[in-house]
Amino acid sequence: MMKEILNYINGKWVKSNQSFIKKSPVNGAEIARVYEADKAMVDLAVQKAKEAFEGEWGSVSLAERCRLLRKVADIMERRSEELMLAESNDVGVPYAAAKMLNVGRSAFAFRMYADEAANLFEQSYHFSPPNGGQAIHYTLRQPKGVVGAISPWNVPLLLLVFKVAPALAMGNCVIAKPSEVTPQSATLLAEIIEEAGFPAGVFNLVHGFGANSAGAFLTENQDVSAFGFTGDTHTGEIIMQSAAKGVRDVCLELGGKNAGIVFSDANLDDAIAGTLRSAFTNCGQICYSTERMYVERSIFDEFVSRLGAAVGQMKIGAPDEEGVQMGPLVSHQHRDKVKSMIDKAAQDGAIFVTGGGIPQFGDERDQGAFIQPVVAIGLAEDADFVRKEVFGPVCHVTPFDSEEEVIKLSNNSRYGLASSIWTQNFSRAHRVAAKIRAGNVWINDWQLRELRTPMGGVGASGIGAQGGRVSLEFFSDLINVTARIDSSASK
Ligand code: NAD
Repeated sequence: MMKEILNYINGKWVKSNQSFIKKSPVNGAEIARVYEADKAMVDLAVQKAKEAFEGEWGSVSLAERCRLLRKVADIMERRSEELMLAESNDVGVPYAAAKMLNVGRSAFAFRMYADEAANLFEQSYHFSPPNGGQAIHYTLRQPKGVVGAISPWNVPLLLLVFKVAPALAMGNCVIAKPSEVTPQSATLLAEIIEEAGFPAGVFNLVHGFGANSAGAFLTENQDVSAFGFTGDTHTGEIIMQSAAKGVRDVCLELGGKNAGIVFSDANLDDAIAGTLRSAFTNCGQICYSTERMYVERSIFDEFVSRLGAAVGQMKIGAPDEEGVQMGPLVSHQHRDKVKSMIDKAAQDGAIFVTGGGIPQFGDERDQGAFIQPVVAIGLAEDADFVRKEVFGPVCHVTPFDSEEEVIKLSNNSRYGLASSIWTQNFSRAHRVAAKIRAGNVWINDWQLRELRTPMGGVGASGIGAQGGRVSLEFFSDLINVTARIDSSASK
């Protein structure tokens, strides 16, 4: 029987009258029926969350909240196989990657947020008012109430956890709305949160789409005071417009068109291995992916031919195959979009060093959403393939002649999410890093993460950041308390 994916509202698992089918990206098989929350269900989830916040949950201590978060991490580790399978079945990501990135890091994040919340810094100032006496000012961080967590499909569990864990740590109640494309791991997360012992109504899960569905119903509900959102830039604009009504807060982690830079003094082995990861991990469906590489002219030919050869040899296949390096794209719909952008690049004059077609396996994988990873050269800077986010396994490589030129090329984008600089000249590395307009710059690496650091985007890549303290701050209101401690002098 096909798996059924239900909504989780006020501690109860609920169906609805509408449902949709989730298909496997690996072979096109129907793998789950997902019950889509209607407006009444989303509103009920918000109402129950509000009641939980104003009731029992509102007086639960920080220490107890942190204990519950750590328990979630323990259960996630115990159920890591289930989570890994859910994530891999939904996205098509190879098992090894799903285990490490999607699941392992999610459990780690729950523990990290418990530690950081327990040690959150508060300010205090002693002050001598002009009219005499003494006063003390101190800050408090109060939960915002009911908050929304709206997440995308590319690394579904982790990107949801980055919102849910800090929101719960700070004492909020949460309505989670995972991507319609990847509903499974969020549903397991709800089970785990329930098992950990969170009171009913504190965490709720609604399934569905964006416009005219659960996503929009959630952002329109005026009892939701803030939204943590990761997704497409255009969706971010819509959510921001919706949140403007009622002056509600947003943290937006949006798209990117990230540039990698390789100087001629780089360790070429490392730069090629790094680019293999930065452009092709998760089939290129990572917001930090470097779809644009700029390589100093003297090493351009060698870089392109070695990268092309390495990409051409990548093992593409189903997530459970031995040694598989790349799975399918997340859906057939997304593959159509990626393929059309590749075809447009060909029309615009791209030279394909490798890839661009649909692989043929001669078995059920031919019904999957696979694509051959692309290394291309030869396009002008204003070509769509160089300007627009493809969100697939593609890398366009362009030569450059000077540091000044490559900084300009990198920054020639409305986005500003990530960059990766490869050089052994460390003065240059830091000089260039400071001039790149991106929220995250890696030197001689890519996606080397420490979850306490703020990771956000500038420009069209977002507002605010996720990670450690900044997320705890986002999911709380900053209150200043001022007390006279010696009023005698002012009388
Ligand atoms: P998307 O914007 O289509 O969907 C993201 C989520 O928003 C989904 O849950 C969707 O149902 C919901 N949604 C869509 N329309 C909505 C609306 N009108 N109101 C409320 N909710 C709505 O994004 P996607 O295709 O799932 O994800 C891919 C995008 O996410 C890429 O652009 C990628 O760069 C970006 N991304 C960014 C980061 C980052 O940290 N900056 C990380 C991962 C992915």
